[in-house]
Amino acid sequence: MRRPLIAGNWKMHKSVAEASAYLEGLIAEDLPTSVDVVCCPTFVSLPAAAMVVTGSDIGLGAQNVHWETSGAFTAELAAPMLIEIGVHWVIVGHSERRTFFGETDETALDRARAGQAAGLEVIYCIGETLAERDAGETFAVLERQTASLGALDPEHLVLAYEPVWAIGTGRNATPAQAQEAHAFLRVRVASIFDGTAADAMRILYGGSLKPANADELLPLADVDGGLIGGASLDVGSFSAIIRAAAVCAAGDVS
Ligand code: PEP
Repeated sequence: MRRPLIAGNWKMHKSVAEASAYLEGLIAEDLPTSVDVVCCPTFVSLPAAAMVVTGSDIGLGAQNVHWETSGAFTAELAAPMLIEIGVHWVIVGHSERRTFFGETDETALDRARAGQAAGLEVIYCIGETLAERDAGETFAVLERQTASLGALDPEHLVLAYEPVWAIGTGRNATPAQAQEAHAFLRVRVASIFDGTAADAMRILYGGSLKPANADELLPLADVDGGLIGGASLDVGSFSAIIRAAAVCAAGDVS
């Protein structure tokens, strides 16, 4: 039984004060304990956020990490620096990094490897564009994007399937599309690692997941939670998704 994980990717949103206030509000929600919850604010908010979440069940994640531990890499952050301030998770390979900042499968892998080496749990993002889906290339893209994952430790790896056409567009994958991709990825994980890893690895869905569609996406057999962008910015909607995941974990799904 995989424990659900709901992670919020705040992207370039919220001031430091807003981040702290949000997290205080989230803690006050008295969230179900059957779901792992992670929030990923901007780098600049991480130290203040770490102080707020210390002692709570909310995990803290960064939105990126560099592959070296130090050096002449202007504007980058190293994994030990994140660990030092209380960060335990990191998002790697997000499609916005791939589209706007030249992230490749190779650099994403390097970042993930450095994150794991320092002790971070890695949320590794993959997913096809609309053109790739329309061309029938979804599985080929997922295969390519996961080709080198064998270099990572499966015990500290979470996959996030995020169809690029569903990110921030309000358009989500249908339950059938999501389950098909997740099932493909689980078989892929079994071939890269082994059956034990495939059974244990959490595969999150990302792409306009919100309270209104959580009830249809989170119960899917191979969906183990979500990576949430827009809907994670509001305490009420993020909490509603976490509660929906808890209902699925309890098997209380109609
Ligand atoms: C994301 O960027 O990881 C994401 C899933 O965004 P949204 O929920 O806004 O589509």
